[in-house]
Amino acid sequence: MAFLMYGDPKVKYLCSCGSLKPISRIYFCRHCMKVKCGFCVSHEVDLHYCSNCLENLPSTEARLKKNRCGYCFDCPSCQISLNTRAVSQTVPHPDDPTKTLTKKSYYLVCAFCRWSSREASIPDQSVATGGWPELKSPHAKRVADLVEHYQDISVQEKEEEEKKKKFQSRPAYFHYAEKYGLSAAVARKRLSNLPQRENKVHQSTVEPSKATEEVDQLPDEVFFEPIRLSQITTVKQRLACPEVQPIDVSNLHPIHKSLLVKRSLRCRDCEHNVSKPEFNPSSTKFKIQLSAFYHVPDIKFLTCEPVFIGKRSELIITICNPTQHQTSFKLHPFELALLSPKLSEDEEEAPPTLKLSLPDSARDAQFQINGTIKLPTTEFQLLPRDDTAEFDDSNKGPTFNDDPKVVVWRRGNKIALRMAVMPNQEAEGLLCVGFAMEYGYVNTMTTLEKKEPQKVKLRAHIVLHTGQIFKSSQ
Ligand SMILES: [Zn+2]
Ligand SMILES: [Zn+2]
Ligand SMILES: [Zn+2]
Ligand SMILES: [Zn+2]
Repeated sequence: MAFLMYGDPKVKYLCSCGSLKPISRIYFCRHCMKVKCGFCVSHEVDLHYCSNCLENLPSTEARLKKNRCGYCFDCPSCQISLNTRAVSQTVPHPDDPTKTLTKKSYYLVCAFCRWSSREASIPDQSVATGGWPELKSPHAKRVADLVEHYQDISVQEKEEEEKKKKFQSRPAYFHYAEKYGLSAAVARKRLSNLPQRENKVHQSTVEPSKATEEVDQLPDEVFFEPIRLSQITTVKQRLACPEVQPIDVSNLHPIHKSLLVKRSLRCRDCEHNVSKPEFNPSSTKFKIQLSAFYHVPDIKFLTCEPVFIGKRSELIITICNPTQHQTSFKLHPFELALLSPKLSEDEEEAPPTLKLSLPDSARDAQFQINGTIKLPTTEFQLLPRDDTAEFDDSNKGPTFNDDPKVVVWRRGNKIALRMAVMPNQEAEGLLCVGFAMEYGYVNTMTTLEKKEPQKVKLRAHIVLHTGQIFKSSQ
């Protein structure tokens, strides 16, 4: 969804945490009946899988394999999946030189940039599934030693904490497992080995790195040989292979494909899931997907006349009911008092430009309302969503006693409303206006206490960026 948006979206919803998000990026928790964005839900990894061969791995195995697939490779030149190509060769028969034999061999090739494993002088393989030579990191031993060293330290830290917490029952293996990639089972095993090394402070076997003043001179060719850019790797290509960081293109080597994850999102208030994907890696469906655009009326910006200081401009927005139930909504001025508790009684008359103070958790909540919006005062009814209505030209349906000055048109579950916006005197940049929408919501989720669908009134806060403010109409 995010990839389809051009620039910054004009309509944003205020999340319950204070962040401003387009409706496609927020969820609706049916238990708390609040909108939730990516910042105020907890993210949990459900499964690791390879996007190319769709193999799924448990998290311990994924960690052992450094979160990479053992069979699939990415192109080291352009980072797109490599394909396996087969070639048939005729070779002399090993037993009878007068006869020939057809042998199949395989190599890797990139369909996009034409890089191939032959370019890296990797010999063709006799089996399609690989056995490709692995690139050894020149620092592999040092890295392994350091990992071992830090795992020892983590065990020691654990031991000390364990002593402190002697009378507390709950073991805290998981903290250490998280910190140094030590699995809980290994941590327990190491702990059980501890009595033998009791009272012995961990002796480091790893030599610490030393800073030195002496640095090798650059080779002469750096100064005298012309640079051949086609032979030198780009920074992106080097960083794609961090353990080796090849400088010359001839040293590029196929890269094991990074694994992807499927994750569930959980509301932090009530711990219910707002999004849970199906476990199967090949499925793009969800078991639970409470996206806000299935539950909250969707407001879209239609048109706005050019905005000038001191002049009213016409703004048209559409509001769409995404649910299966008829609903009604009413628009109210942005509730500054609700959002800004510091606003005192005598400040009730809102100053022309107000910087809203929002909870600390808000990441991008700093916005300035720098104009006024004239909202319709009536309550509007919205029909339920009907997927067949789009194909029905008869245009039958209930008629509403709408004011033609306000309602531009109605189509099924959608309504277009005309409003007027005006920037404040000293406003500049983009015109930003806001309003609160009170809407009826039918919660069909039943609980033990509430067996019937509940009808409730909810509020959503909307911020609109209508367009550039011009100084005068001349
Ligand atoms: Zn949020
Ligand atoms: Zn794979
Ligand atoms: Zn490529
Ligand atoms: Zn919740």
